[in-house]
Amino acid sequence: MQFDVVIVGAGHGGAQAAIALRQNGFAGSIAIVGDEPELPYERPPLSKEYLAGEKAFERMLIRPAAFWAERNVEMLLERRVAAVDPDAHSLLTGGGETIGYSTLIWAAGGAPRRLACAGTDLSGVHTVRTRADVDRMLAELESVERAVVIGGGYIGLETAATLRKLGKEVVLLEALDRVLSRVAGEPLSRFYEAEHRARGVDLRLGAMVDCLVGDRQVSGVRLCDGSEIAAQLVVVGIGIDAAVEPLLAAGAAGDNGVQVDGRCRTSLPDVFAVGDCALHPNRFAGGDLVRLESVQNATDQATVAARAIAGIAAEYDALPWFWSNQYDLRLQTVGISTGHDATVVRGDPATRSFSVVYLKQGRVIALDCVNVTRDYVQGRKLILERAAPDPAKLADPDTPLKELTAGR
Ligand code: FAD
Repeated sequence: MQFDVVIVGAGHGGAQAAIALRQNGFAGSIAIVGDEPELPYERPPLSKEYLAGEKAFERMLIRPAAFWAERNVEMLLERRVAAVDPDAHSLLTGGGETIGYSTLIWAAGGAPRRLACAGTDLSGVHTVRTRADVDRMLAELESVERAVVIGGGYIGLETAATLRKLGKEVVLLEALDRVLSRVAGEPLSRFYEAEHRARGVDLRLGAMVDCLVGDRQVSGVRLCDGSEIAAQLVVVGIGIDAAVEPLLAAGAAGDNGVQVDGRCRTSLPDVFAVGDCALHPNRFAGGDLVRLESVQNATDQATVAARAIAGIAAEYDALPWFWSNQYDLRLQTVGISTGHDATVVRGDPATRSFSVVYLKQGRVIALDCVNVTRDYVQGRKLILERAAPDPAKLADPDTPLKELTAGR
């Protein structure tokens, strides 16, 4: 098998790369190699509507089957790429097939991190990354009264919210002293902690897991303080490791992520990387190399790589954005808050409609907006302009953010 462009990973980035190649007039042969059995689908509903039973899988497909056939995109599914030979410009799959490429786009995302303790192989222990993960969980749910969710990041919190909606008792364990500590400031963390508790989640901070207990089937979680929490289901949401081993083994620069430049090119010839696995320079992170785990990032990077391959100059310079739905709360984030030195809370969290504005040296670098889309939309400009508004005005929800932009 030989293709002009081979895309590894049939997820958000992989699908968008193929879509954008065709949109930009690329007429060569394209194959997408993916290890899951499904056509590319949207991952965000997995912890939300799909787990809740509110959205059928077919409605999560990024494009219907006919779309790929019409655009002559070959889908090579249920194949895991095990090795890359950059000199021969070829891939080797776990099943022993060799696939040649002229250009390779690596869009393999990441694999859920496993707990480093006893008991993680017991049945009833789950992660939430693929449709198969969630289907396995759904098959067990009926007999579950109590679930323990390990990890207070977005995946853990969304899963906890959905399990509550399904009427399960939920204990959420976070090792650090607040939830969302990696991605958000303290005001947002405290708000979400209070919300989850108000909805009946037994949320425990500073909770260190010793091991998972059970005999074949998980029966509980033992904490380092010796206490044990009984549960019939355990969900582990402690982050992902970038799926880049074959590329790094082939000599690509990187570690937890494969390093790319502003055009999504890796250090290997004719090899691009996009999405969750791509360690890229981001001006909204002060030019630092970062890996972003969002649909926006995967989609926009895939478009940049596709344009470069189609011979149209493009640089990745998109303002990052993200969303998370929990209960009736819609969080919309814009910018990257890492490195902020001050926060301004805009509006009263008690009203369940407020924003947290992140500042660095007086300039707005990011916003987390809960049930207030207007701030999210208007706040973008403040970040793009590197605006330094009066904090008192910023804190006043009656002063529209658009009135604080310099270009007004
Ligand atoms: P993926 O979509 O993960 O696709 C990678 C694909 O490559 C996978 O199918 C993987 O199995 C496959 N693969 C890996 N290794 C190989 C290999 N060696 N050979 C072949 N195939 C391989 N983002 C948001 O912006 N908002 C949200 O609300 C949100 N919610 C989320 C909820 C859940 C439960 C999850 C899991 C993610 C969520 N995300 C959300 C993140 C978002 O889904 C990811 O950032 C996005 O999917 C990244 O796209 P990607 O193409 O980089 O990787």
